[in-house]
Amino acid sequence: MIDYQNILNQISQKVTKDKNKGKIASYIPELATVDLNSFGIHLQLVSGEQFAVGDAHKSFSIQSISKVLSLAYAMSIIGTDLWKRLDVEPSGNPFNHLSLLELEEGIPRNPFINSGAIVIADILVSNLENPKSDFLNYIRDITGDNTIDYNYKVAQSEKETGFNNYAAANLLKSFNNLNNDVEVVLDFYFHQCALQMSCTQLSKAFHLFANKGKCLANKARLTKSQAKRINAIMLTCGFYDEAGEFAFEVGLPGKSGVGGGIVALLPNEFVISVWSPGLNERGNSKLGMKALEQFTTLANQSIF
Ligand code: GLU
Repeated sequence: MIDYQNILNQISQKVTKDKNKGKIASYIPELATVDLNSFGIHLQLVSGEQFAVGDAHKSFSIQSISKVLSLAYAMSIIGTDLWKRLDVEPSGNPFNHLSLLELEEGIPRNPFINSGAIVIADILVSNLENPKSDFLNYIRDITGDNTIDYNYKVAQSEKETGFNNYAAANLLKSFNNLNNDVEVVLDFYFHQCALQMSCTQLSKAFHLFANKGKCLANKARLTKSQAKRINAIMLTCGFYDEAGEFAFEVGLPGKSGVGGGIVALLPNEFVISVWSPGLNERGNSKLGMKALEQFTTLANQSIF
């Protein structure tokens, strides 16, 4: 039996000693208000046990990690039709690059670049009666936690500074790949990114990807095949232009966000969430990447 608690303690001690903790994202001004020294890890085993260290229960802005959850929700509603409007190739570009411009006919390269996530947001806006509250309820349901909420200040802050996302949404509209009003879709997208969750809550929310589509309460929220495909997209597209490095160093499917969170998982075994708000040059949590590299090395567990 692996001594997971001991491994998490060791990682936390070692990694937090690093003097260079990276830089907090400031392009969304409200994100810059967090403490650079925050650090937490939560590990949820599919068998039910859980382990935590540091600020694992403190909530933070999950940002792009939400793109996996919105994709899952959209897939569970419209199934494979979704792929008529999106591709599944890694972009090799930073998260905010207008990679839509590289493509013909307005098809975003994958659902985790911003233009792709905006198409997913459009799909949800078209298919949900009350998009923001229905999405929030979906997250609360799969996590089994009704305390989860949007951080409205972060959503507003992003709305005021999200010029790239307005550009992407308008471009999508010009290609007829956005069915709803730009303002309405982006309002949904900014709220989705402004979900405030802890490592503990994220590990529970992502349980369905590690458990063949079944959420923590053992209800099927995705088919096995859908869970498999989403894991594949996390592995190839989950870390902006650092997906190769993450696969190389860590060896797990996962997704990061500019709030400094990373969630990664080993199918049938566990979900692990890390939060350290300082980012590296590629926009991924600097200490979070290190912690996960240490975790898969010390626990000797990865998909490879
Ligand atoms: N809401 C952020 C944006 O669209 C998400 C960034 C991220 O975490 O990659 O700019």
